[in-house]
Amino acid sequence: MTSRSLHCLRCARPAEGFDGCRTCAAEGIGVNAMPPLADLGGMDLSSCPGGPWGLPAALPVSGPPVTLGEGNTPVVRLRNGPDRAGANAPAGEVWLKYEGGNPTGSHKDRAMAVGVAAAVAAGAETVVAASSGNAGAAAAAYAARAGLRCVVFTNEAVPAGLRAQIDALGAERVVRPGTTAERNAAMARAVEQPGRYPLTSYSSPSPGGNPPPSSQPRSSRGTPMPTRGTSRSPTSWRGTSPGGSSTRWWCPPAGRICWPESAAASGSWRPPD
Ligand SMILES: [Zn+2]
Repeated sequence: MTSRSLHCLRCARPAEGFDGCRTCAAEGIGVNAMPPLADLGGMDLSSCPGGPWGLPAALPVSGPPVTLGEGNTPVVRLRNGPDRAGANAPAGEVWLKYEGGNPTGSHKDRAMAVGVAAAVAAGAETVVAASSGNAGAAAAAYAARAGLRCVVFTNEAVPAGLRAQIDALGAERVVRPGTTAERNAAMARAVEQPGRYPLTSYSSPSPGGNPPPSSQPRSSRGTPMPTRGTSRSPTSWRGTSPGGSSTRWWCPPAGRICWPESAAASGSWRPPD
């Protein structure tokens, strides 16, 4: 089983071990590392068995899966119409994927199945997660399936039911009072030890979402640019981050979050229309 190389979603530089992209982190921006996108052109996906292991070419790991039967959860169709929601309500339909049907009751099972398989491939003896509940329970379950030790860093706000689930699945639950950043820092120290493999992010700034306000782009006058679209059509501008680099930002119509244009242009992320 070999890991496929991961790269930064924002700047496309190779990820550096478990630390992700240090270049973007130095600019105050946390970015997810991602594997090369699978080419699905010409594939008949109707023959795909589904679940996280249904399309191995799309995964950052290959080889024997670690599985508890995750995925293939039911789709629930919700309909809205005048007869049920009033004469002025638009008729429509929403399809919901019921992820509570996964083995530990959340969508986290999909990622943890693959993460634990990667840990096994790396020769790890212990997997480590930082979680407010669901991810910790999933990590504990899949670690137990693979015969790995599992350590879960949590805070005091984890609901009693999830605490019991993590404990019952044999994980070592470490409660860290304080902020999420402090909890993640404790996990960062833990994964520095040999034989340990992280199953969740622990970096600061956290990957995903928008950059923190201090790293938002500024105009030539040094005024912070808006973090949401203010016009009714897409706009973009070039701003300078506190680190001095120049970034072009892409801003969808009013009310939507702005993104570095490099992320939108990479084709791996598409803003909603
Ligand atoms: Zn980067």
